[in-house]
Amino acid sequence: MSRSAVWHPFTQHATEPAAPLIARTEGAYVETADGKRILDAISSWWVITHGHRHPKIVEAIRNATETLDQVIFAGLTHEPAEQLASALVEMAPAGLDWVFYSDSGSTSVEVALKMALGFHRNNGDARTRLVVMEHSYHGDTIGTMSVGARGVFNAAYDPLLFEVDTIPFPAPGREQETLDRFEALTRDGKAAALIVEPLVLGAGGMLMYPAQRLTELKQIAERSGTLLIADEVMTGWGRTGTMFACEQAGVSPDILCTSKGLTGGSMPLAATLATEAIFQAHLSTDRAKTFFHSSSYTANPIACAAALANVALWRDEPVAERVAALSRMQADKLARFRNDERFENLRTAGTISALDLRVGKAGYLAEVGPKLRAFFLERDLLVRPLGNVIYVLPPYCVTSGELDRLYDAVDEAAELAGGGG
Ligand SMILES: *Cc1c(COP(=O)(O)O)cnc(C)c1O
Repeated sequence: MSRSAVWHPFTQHATEPAAPLIARTEGAYVETADGKRILDAISSWWVITHGHRHPKIVEAIRNATETLDQVIFAGLTHEPAEQLASALVEMAPAGLDWVFYSDSGSTSVEVALKMALGFHRNNGDARTRLVVMEHSYHGDTIGTMSVGARGVFNAAYDPLLFEVDTIPFPAPGREQETLDRFEALTRDGKAAALIVEPLVLGAGGMLMYPAQRLTELKQIAERSGTLLIADEVMTGWGRTGTMFACEQAGVSPDILCTSKGLTGGSMPLAATLATEAIFQAHLSTDRAKTFFHSSSYTANPIACAAALANVALWRDEPVAERVAALSRMQADKLARFRNDERFENLRTAGTISALDLRVGKAGYLAEVGPKLRAFFLERDLLVRPLGNVIYVLPPYCVTSGELDRLYDAVDEAAELAGGGG
């Protein structure tokens, strides 16, 4: 084969091994062209929910292509988008009555930020400051990087990123600090919105906080007229144990972003849900108040059909029970490391588990990630640690035996950090 022309995402081509060629996917596995079955313990970057190529979703995609491909979504509409929007409104936290489609998690967040600023501006309120949580991740576009944590990943673009106000991550013992800071930032009535990943900060290191904190943040937001944007791009569709993570906090955000699991992980699609008030602020005979946003592939009918099949699966199959069983399994299996000094910060949120590998030498942190990745791949396990944070975020069809094999490998992998490099 000639040299690959592919420039891969988040990949340092100078140091990383050539990417295995994946020829087939099924259930909890991705399979290489030469027949190796690799357990997808990270749901292919958090998108796959039920499992790869669920037959009902594949069937829906196939059927949709019999009648529709892409249709311009300004001025025209179609059944898959209409039905999906109704279903989303029904399933989402109460009060989210409008659905705006786009095609990735990042765009769903960009849309949310624009809606929040448009809401205030159209209401004659000069609020433009955004409040974000420390260690957050909301995407890789300029706008979403601006509301995310700053670091080596976005240092080159820093001059282009807009300023935001940051509240501390509500780590145990620091909760009050988080709430006080948010209260202080909202006191002058200038904060447009708080954007948060509910319960789990994914790319920031699978950091988890109790639902009660989200409830408290929402109360402060409400008192000051600050909008709450819930970025449920990763946490949605059962990942944290409930359909949406906000449910556990009894919180209805003003805006909710969903993508990754929306189509069961089969097709790119995203939706930003908003309240009636936000829609109303853009409803006017003054055309300047229009919500000016679109992507070419907005509400792609085939992707919407895949999402509708996903919604049907949640209705027709015991998916919630499957999620509950997986959540229990994850907690049980992680417990074997409870008194293991090689690890710390054992944590779970629904179907997600995470633990931190104690690393000795300073500077070793950056190195351990790629080493662990290679170690797991040699054992036909797709695991992608975030620095020294090992996490397991599997499709819901994963079995107890498969998880055992995975945690056995985690146990072995700890030696990589302990062995003095
Ligand atoms: C993955 C992710 C995004 C970005 O989604 P893309 O589809 O990769 O653009 C945004 N927010 C959160 C919380 C995510 O986990």
